[in-house]
Amino acid sequence: AARGIALGVDLGTSGVRVAALDAAGRMAGLGTAPLADARAPEGWWAALRRALAALADQADLAGLRAVAVGGTSGTLLPVDAAGRPLAAASLYSDQAEPEAVRAVERCAPAGSPARGATSPLARALAWLELPGLARLLHQADWITGRLLGCYRWSDGNNALKTGYNAAAARWPPWLAAAGMPLALLPEVRPAGTPLGAMDAALARSLGLPPGLLVVAGTTDGCAAFLAAGAARPGEAVTSLGSTLVLKLASEAPVTAPDFGVYSHRLQGLWLAGGASNSGGAALARHFDGPALARLSARLDPGRASPLDYYPLPGRGERFPIADAGLAARETPRPDDDLAFLHGLLEGIARIEAAGYRRLVELGASPLVSVRTVGGGARNAAWTAIRARVLGVPVCRAAAEEAAVGLAGLALRQALR
Ligand code: ADP
Repeated sequence: AARGIALGVDLGTSGVRVAALDAAGRMAGLGTAPLADARAPEGWWAALRRALAALADQADLAGLRAVAVGGTSGTLLPVDAAGRPLAAASLYSDQAEPEAVRAVERCAPAGSPARGATSPLARALAWLELPGLARLLHQADWITGRLLGCYRWSDGNNALKTGYNAAAARWPPWLAAAGMPLALLPEVRPAGTPLGAMDAALARSLGLPPGLLVVAGTTDGCAAFLAAGAARPGEAVTSLGSTLVLKLASEAPVTAPDFGVYSHRLQGLWLAGGASNSGGAALARHFDGPALARLSARLDPGRASPLDYYPLPGRGERFPIADAGLAARETPRPDDDLAFLHGLLEGIARIEAAGYRRLVELGASPLVSVRTVGGGARNAAWTAIRARVLGVPVCRAAAEEAAVGLAGLALRQALR
C-alpha cells in the first residue's frame, strides 16, 4: 500500500472524506463515509472513524506525520468547557433570527462577510443564554479540538464569516457591540499553523500513529482551491457547477460588498472570490447532460460565436454585474442547436472573463492561468473556448477533493 505522510479531513454536509498524501504529494488513498444527520456532531465523529477505517484499507497510515481538518464554512456549534456540544449544529445554509441579523448589520462594516440572512455570527447569537456555554466553534474547529483534546482553536478562513478581520488578524471590537462576547470565540491561527500533537491513546483508537501533528485547517472552498493545484499570484480556479464561482490568488486582498467579493488569507496570499449566478444551471434550462456532451463534441471552439448572450437561470445577478433585476439575454435563438449552445458557452466564458477583469480592477493580481472544477470542467470544447476568451491557459484541476487540499496543508508541516 502507498505510504501516507499527511492526512486531510473534509467534513461536508452529506459525508466525511479523508485523503492521505505521500511524501511526493501524490494521493495515497481516499476514504469516505456518509453522514446521516449533518447537524449531529457525534455523527461527524462516527463518520470520521468509518472514513479513516476505509482509508486504512487502501494506504499505509503508520508513517502519517500531520493532519488538517476542514469543514463546511459557516456551520457551527456551541460547546461547554469540556468541548461537549450543547445543541445541534447550525448549518451554513440556516437562516438566522431577523433580530440577530439586524444587530449584526447595525455594527458590521460594509464589506463584512458576517452580514446577511445566513450569517453564522447572527446564528451564534441565539446560543448566548445556553447554560454552561464556554465557546462557539466551527465544524472544523470542533473536530480539530477533539483530535487535540483542546477546544481552543480556529483558522482565519472558517472564522471569516463569523466576523474575523483577516487583514488585521483579530476579532474586531464591533463584534462585542453586536452582542457577541469575544471570550466565547476561538483563538484564530492562519490555515496550516501547527497547533499541537494528537493524544497517543486517541490516535491508537483511530488507527493512527502516535505523535501526529494537528495543524489549523480551512474551509471546504479554500481547501478545494488548494486541491486544484493553484498556488501562485494570478493563478485562479473556476468552479463550473450549477453556478460560476471564481477564485484568484492575489498579493493584495480585494473587498467589494456590492459584488459579494471578499478575500481569504491563505498560504501567505489572498484568495479573492466572486460568484455569478450563470453557469451549469443556466445551461440546464436548455440542454440536459447527455445533450451537452453530444453537441459539444461537434463544436468548433476556435471560431467565435456571433451571438451576444448573458445566460442566467433566473432573474438577477451579483457578480461581475451587481443587478438584482438583470434578465438573461439568450435571444435571438438560432434554429441550429449547435450554434445556440456555442453562443451559450461563449456567453458564460465572457462572464467568467469579465469576472476576472473585475477582480483585477478591484486590486487582485493579474490573471495568469485558470484551473477548472465542477461539471463543466470535463467539456473540452468549452475549455478551448474559455482559453480563447480568457487569453490565458485553462486546464483541469489537479484534484477536486477538498480533503486533498487539506492533506496538502498538512504536508507542508509533515515535510519540515
Ligand atoms: P453542482 O454545483 O451542483 O455541484 P456540478 O459540478 O455537479 O454542479 O455540475 C453540474 C452542472 O454541470 C449542471 O448544471 C450541468 O448543466 C453542467 N454540465 C454537465 N455536463 C456538462 C457538459 N458536458 N458540459 C457543460 N456543462 C455540463
